[in-house]
Amino acid sequence: MKIIAVNAGSSSLKFQLLEMPVEKVIASGVVERIGINDSIFTIKYGDIRDKEIIDIPNHQVAVKMLLSKLIGLGIVNTLDEIEGVGHRVVHGGERFKDSVKIDDSVIQAIEEVSELAPLHNPANLTGIRAFMEALPNVVEVAVFDTAFHQTMDPVAFMYSVPYEWYTKYGVRKYGFHGTSHKYVSERAAQMIGKPVEDAKIIVCHIGNGVSLCAVDGGKSIDTSMGFTPLAGIPMGTRSGDIDPAIVQFISQKENKSLDEVINELNKKSGYLGLSELSSDSRDLWEAVERGDKKSILAVEKQAKIIADYIGAYFLALGGCDAICFTAGIGENASETRRIVCDKIKALGTDLDYNRNLTRGKEMVISTDESKIKLLLIPTNEEVVIARDTVRLGK
Ligand code: ADP
Repeated sequence: MKIIAVNAGSSSLKFQLLEMPVEKVIASGVVERIGINDSIFTIKYGDIRDKEIIDIPNHQVAVKMLLSKLIGLGIVNTLDEIEGVGHRVVHGGERFKDSVKIDDSVIQAIEEVSELAPLHNPANLTGIRAFMEALPNVVEVAVFDTAFHQTMDPVAFMYSVPYEWYTKYGVRKYGFHGTSHKYVSERAAQMIGKPVEDAKIIVCHIGNGVSLCAVDGGKSIDTSMGFTPLAGIPMGTRSGDIDPAIVQFISQKENKSLDEVINELNKKSGYLGLSELSSDSRDLWEAVERGDKKSILAVEKQAKIIADYIGAYFLALGGCDAICFTAGIGENASETRRIVCDKIKALGTDLDYNRNLTRGKEMVISTDESKIKLLLIPTNEEVVIARDTVRLGK
């Protein structure tokens, strides 16, 4: 059975075609610059990489092009082989606690929570509509970044603000990266040989976006992102937690609107803000090698906050079996893992510096003596999307 896992952004569409239930990637790719001139269509299958630069005015055209490529390149014989399409949707609000089969009422509900994710949900919907038009007879499933965190207790998800902000406007912690936290925590339980129901896991998803999650018995009990993905840990360009009074102070001093200040917290802060150099961890570690002080500050600041959250989640979980590193930086930047692990030794973790040199593949990176296992686990959101599409398509 073949399933397409889709992640549609405002001008992009990432896809994977998977053979299920064996979970084998048959083809993958991305369409970039949709609606802008010189769009780029890239598809990889087997050892072949096909790239075409052509104007793709909208997501409908991108999807049609993808489907005709799948046939044209002989990846599928007919479109009937595709039995389902799973879509990443960023925000499911409080309504969606699990993935769902998409129908008109689901589309309406995704539209309704768009207010909470104005950049993402409308783009996700564009992808959904384009596939529903192109493949009207297959099951379409929505998989939400927020759903995994819907198990949080009010003590974890409420902010200490006027209660009616919650009842009137839905102001609460939602958390994101849920699909990744779910995948990694399940793999971690398998790697340490414990049923997920009995395992206490902390997942550190460290990419351009960064979030941590405390997973108790397979359920998210707390996570570091909040009402929006701006909260928690300092990221590539996002500040993470700051004193909210700074927003008003800077707005007055710099004569900027609240929108402008929030935009700077989203786009000009984090690694980029402190280093005044780059939002990319590779550039920063290169600069750290040269002794660049601001880059050292940027990576150390992030590591400190990650360690702070790990400590808090260790307490919230009442101990922990494994701490996992995933996403672009967590999977590849052994330097970041090292400086984080150096700060959490008091918990009983012991990093094996040699094993930690591994990049991009599953590995236990703690010593055999470490009380808490340290794990490197490449995330795989697409496989969760494909699994849920199969499960809900039955
Ligand atoms: P996103 O949140 O956009 O999905 P990713 O998970 O792809 O982001 O992470 C992007 C980050 O991963 C960038 O900071 C990049 O520098 C870092 N990264 C990717 N590959 C490596 C590598 N080989 N070594 C160090 N950092 C890497």
